[in-house]
Amino acid sequence: MSAMPSTSAKAHAAGVEAYDAVVVGAGFAGMYMLHRLRGLGFSVRVYEQGDGVGGTWYWNRYPGARCDVESMQYSYSFSEELQQQWDWSERYAPQPEILKYANHVADRFDLRRDIEFSTRVERAVFDEAANLWSVTTSQGDTVTARHIILATGCLSNARMPDIRGLKEFKGEVYHTGHWPHHPVDFKGKRVAVIGTGSSAIQSVPVIAEQASHLTVFQRTANFSIPARNAALTAEERECFRSRYPEIRRFAREEARNGIYTEVPDRGALDDGDNVRRAKYEARWSKGGLTFMSVYNNLAIDKAANDTAANFVREMIADIVDDPGTAKLLQPDSHPIGTKRICIDSDYYAAFNRPNVTLVDIKSTGIDEILPHAVRAGGNDYEVDALVLATGFDAMTGSVAKIDIVGRDGKTLNQKWAEGPRTYLGLMSAGFPNLFVITGPGSPSVLSNMIVSIEQHVDWIADCLGFMRDNGFAAMEAERDAEDKWVDHVNEVAHGTLYPQANSWYMGANIPGKPRIFMPYIGGVGAYRQICNEVAAKGYEGFAMTAAAKEKRAAAS
Ligand SMILES: Cc1cc2nc3c(=O)[nH]c(=O)nc-3n(C[C@H](O)[C@H](O)[C@H](O)COP(=O)(O)OP(=O)(O)OC[C@H]3O[C@@H](n4cnc5c(N)ncnc54)[C@H](O)[C@@H]3O)c2cc1C
Repeated sequence: MSAMPSTSAKAHAAGVEAYDAVVVGAGFAGMYMLHRLRGLGFSVRVYEQGDGVGGTWYWNRYPGARCDVESMQYSYSFSEELQQQWDWSERYAPQPEILKYANHVADRFDLRRDIEFSTRVERAVFDEAANLWSVTTSQGDTVTARHIILATGCLSNARMPDIRGLKEFKGEVYHTGHWPHHPVDFKGKRVAVIGTGSSAIQSVPVIAEQASHLTVFQRTANFSIPARNAALTAEERECFRSRYPEIRRFAREEARNGIYTEVPDRGALDDGDNVRRAKYEARWSKGGLTFMSVYNNLAIDKAANDTAANFVREMIADIVDDPGTAKLLQPDSHPIGTKRICIDSDYYAAFNRPNVTLVDIKSTGIDEILPHAVRAGGNDYEVDALVLATGFDAMTGSVAKIDIVGRDGKTLNQKWAEGPRTYLGLMSAGFPNLFVITGPGSPSVLSNMIVSIEQHVDWIADCLGFMRDNGFAAMEAERDAEDKWVDHVNEVAHGTLYPQANSWYMGANIPGKPRIFMPYIGGVGAYRQICNEVAAKGYEGFAMTAAAKEKRAAAS
């Protein structure tokens, strides 16, 4: 009999529902986690604060929202039938289609019966004597679970900017990451978009077509590459499908970012000016995130990086008619690629429209919001609607909103006060049986996230199976292993140009958030290998507690 008995149905102990695992969040991570654990015979409860599945694609319904990794790759690979049967309509599917896909997956694998929607997990407390988590929800329910798995998303905690007067604004206010479910029509309205990150870059061209006037408030110019989005033909889909085994294998095992692409074998300075320019032009014409894969040293060598950055700046100057506006749109505060590159459909060209104005707020910020206007640099811009494209409290924001109490009554927020600390981005010492999917310290946001999600889910599912089969009731990251991993994550990051950018990777968009580089930059393939080796060595660096005797023992 296993020490961690699995139950296909929830058990009731003293009136409290008991599960093998509670999963928080029903985005792509939570849905696949449920599917895997159910397949292993565990009882699982998923809590989702939204009233539907899809996570990111449930919340981000702003105009122009779509993925920036090609859909044939930004999709689950765990089911051969699914990937062979689902037809993506465009190279980069729009949000409604990705949400439809998420709903299809939920139906196809009969996931909904174990998901409780419109329910937030508010608190989770670890009972050291019983090795159980006690989980309290916004519905006032408390359940127990052997494991809690946070599938809460890296970009799911929309960041409301702290601008004076925002609450007094009399017009419509929207956040891109919390968009209403009803259609929003900006026709004939004066609209302000605040922020110029990925969501703004996607929405500006679409809003510009509807609004009578659009004013875009820019603090930091970002690099964007044309998406070259287009309808996918049946032949193109077939071409992908027939090569899926190799494409998926490459994305998992060899790619740095989980995307199938050529591996560059040269540095940018190994080519002369003309050859280099021709290569950049070819990538610019092809479009998409693989622009950064032209050369192998763009992320580590500033001189090499400058060649790519200068090329993109030139392209911006070519597209944008007004030289002053073009100058403002040319990023000058960070090396290209050190903030996630954006992918656009006519973003820069939108500024050639007579109804679009760019306002530079780099040095002054926004002074205040008035009831009918945005005041910046001493000027008032009258608007009917505000679109806050101000991003997310990334990677840790949604975790921090849950009151998680681990060993000795210590909370995760206390432990992470100086920045998140994890072993492999999966667990944090002092919080047994608590896993994070794509947590800080893992490649997560630097990758095609579905590849990283599937890897984490499979690793966690295998781990829970191992614990059950070997009679372990608790598992916990060892502090020494965690310290070494945190050092390694930092060391790898500081070997690159990434920390030179004030990016949300560093928590720089959130006032007061500690500045540490959160994702692991060592590459998806290399990271997977490390995780696999750790598992193969009996979960090296994790302490296991045997069920009956509550004795801590190293897994062998
Ligand atoms: C606009 C946008 C475009 C993106 N495009 C791409 C792309 O092209 N390629 C790519 O790789 N990545 C992209 N991403 C990143 C994207 O977040 C991931 O690809 C992926 O969807 C994350 O899935 P997830 O399940 O981990 O998290 P999410 O999709 O964020 O889901 C987390 C869920 O957890 C729920 N939740 C959080 N806290 C609680 C709580 N306490 N209680 C209950 N429920 C809770 C949330 O409501 C949410 O539904 C994009 C992100 C955004 C915002």
